[in-house]
Amino acid sequence: MDEFLSVTGRKLDIIIKFAALKNQEIMTQSALDFIVPKTNATRARYKSGSKPSFGHFVEDYINGEVDIKGDFEDFIKARHGYFDFTLTPHHFKFFFSRFIPEVAIHSKAQDERIIRENLVQALPSLSGRLLHAETCLYTMTPDEHFVIDRHPEFPQVALAAGFSGHGFKFASVAGELLADLVTGSKSPYDLELFSIRRFAGHQ
Ligand SMILES: Cc1cc2nc3c(=O)[nH]c(=O)nc-3n(C[C@H](O)[C@H](O)[C@H](O)COP(=O)(O)OP(=O)(O)OC[C@H]3O[C@@H](n4cnc5c(N)ncnc54)[C@H](O)[C@@H]3O)c2cc1C
Repeated sequence: MDEFLSVTGRKLDIIIKFAALKNQEIMTQSALDFIVPKTNATRARYKSGSKPSFGHFVEDYINGEVDIKGDFEDFIKARHGYFDFTLTPHHFKFFFSRFIPEVAIHSKAQDERIIRENLVQALPSLSGRLLHAETCLYTMTPDEHFVIDRHPEFPQVALAAGFSGHGFKFASVAGELLADLVTGSKSPYDLELFSIRRFAGHQ
């Protein structure tokens, strides 16, 4: 029995020490390690050493007044260390009046407002009368790199696809690579990164 108590006690001691260490590690982090305030109000709210409200953070993020820097997963994992999760009536009001309509029930009118807010700052003369709005979709490959290769079963077919939202600026070089594939010329570039076979294991 004594031996059991001593082993259990040692285990508890280790767990307590580990928890204290974890806590110490968490407490040394500040919201500023993970987010970038963009206005004077948010700089004051997230100043080092304070434990800002998570509700306010969601609000500031939706209003474009703070940004998340670095890895999003790191930010989420460590959130209990530097945010206060106490909710106030103000947060509930914001949740129902802004968060739900803007995030869950997204509308074209909201898209237009968000785009206009940016146009007014960057290209004011483009923020005129809206003639037509359309949702644009693009194909994403699992690793977000292009596919520029010959068809695995029909080598006479060369293809360039899966530009994952950043193909426009590479149009000229993609054309050169395609021309080399079609004419059988040796490309000066290593096309392994764009190989269609790299997804062989993917569904
Ligand atoms: C919303 C959005 C934002 C983007 N932002 C960027 C960005 O900021 N930077 C960037 O570099 N890239 C961006 N891209 C990606 C870029 O636009 C594409 O990667 C690029 O246009 C792909 O070029 P493509 O020639 O392969 O295809 P496309 O440009 O789509 O050209 C294919 C053409 O084939 C035509 N076509 C289709 N079927 C047929 C048919 N049966 N007969 C005849 N013609 C046909 C289509 O009408 C079209 O003109 C964005 C894409 C979208 C949708």
